[in-house]
Amino acid sequence: MNDVRVFNFAAGPSQLPLEVLEEASKELINYKGSGQSVMEMSHRSKEFEEILNDAEKNLRSLLFIGDNYRIVFLQGGGTLQFSMVPLNLLRKSKKADYVVTGSWSKKAFSEAEKYGDALVVASSEKDNFTWIPKLKREDFRADADYVHITHNNTIYGTRFSEIPDTGDIPLVADMSSSILSQEIDVSKFGLIYAGAQKNIGPSGVTIAIIREDIIGHAPDTCPTYLDYKIHVDNNSLYNTPPCFGIYIAGEVFKLLLKRGGVKAMEEINQEKASLLYRAIEASSLYTCPVNEEDRSLMNVVFVTGSEALDKKFVSEAKAQGMINLGGHRSIGGMRASIYNAMPMEGVKALVDFMDKFEKANK
Ligand code: PMP
Repeated sequence: MNDVRVFNFAAGPSQLPLEVLEEASKELINYKGSGQSVMEMSHRSKEFEEILNDAEKNLRSLLFIGDNYRIVFLQGGGTLQFSMVPLNLLRKSKKADYVVTGSWSKKAFSEAEKYGDALVVASSEKDNFTWIPKLKREDFRADADYVHITHNNTIYGTRFSEIPDTGDIPLVADMSSSILSQEIDVSKFGLIYAGAQKNIGPSGVTIAIIREDIIGHAPDTCPTYLDYKIHVDNNSLYNTPPCFGIYIAGEVFKLLLKRGGVKAMEEINQEKASLLYRAIEASSLYTCPVNEEDRSLMNVVFVTGSEALDKKFVSEAKAQGMINLGGHRSIGGMRASIYNAMPMEGVKALVDFMDKFEKANK
């Protein structure tokens, strides 16, 4: 680890791979001899077109995305997807079924309610979102236009360890905090979206992976920018895209391919998460409120049982170079976000600190 760098456990924006930052800093003022930075470059230039096409191609290889899916690079974060999804996908019955597993899915649901007959088919809210509902095909309305899930719940530290079977109903997944962290069978989904600022790159880029048959059905009243088709037809260049963010995302994709792809990342992520969960289980100070089988690989939440001690933990960890360990402002406690770019070394340092902190605060 570089001496000046901290271990950043933030939920996003979060740590990026040092190799990517170093490479980008070399290319910052003169990208591959073009005499300019990617930030200054025309989005219609040959250089940028190559960056964009390579990013798309590499993401396709990383996730084994079939030819019947299109990839677009958008703006507006996961939040704008909460509106784009119903605007584009509510087309026949105008029914949309939502599985509510946290604040982000609640927000997604509220947007869908504005445009159609949105229904919460399952929710774990009564238990403060500490588990993931088990769903069968019969739980969804047979004529729903789509089903929406939040694959990984960044705030509550849960994830779907099994993807619900929705039969012919397109399944839409918010993978903002899990994309590229584990292998996923894209063919099970109608649409996957993710903000970039956790596992991909800087904030400002949002990726959508859309099955072809669900593109092109937005109503005429849909704002042009919010119609997936306009972005698909224009290869993400309908308007000026977030060029620099796409470039960094592309560099991250290249690095992941070099490191053995998503399968290799998943193995490391499993190891990192188990190290942390095992430390929590073994301790008599920390507890993880999440149902064991639903625990996230990316966001590990834990508490000491005392708010004051939680605060002390977060500030002492910060002094040791482990920053942003406080839980989301809505739930408190601690949360260690351990995305792809968090090295094992960072998790080991955290586990070490947890042990020392426990001994010192008996
Ligand atoms: N979905 C999930 C799962 C998230 O974690 C977040 C943000 N942390 C969002 C959506 C909202 O994303 P954005 O801030 O990019 O709009």
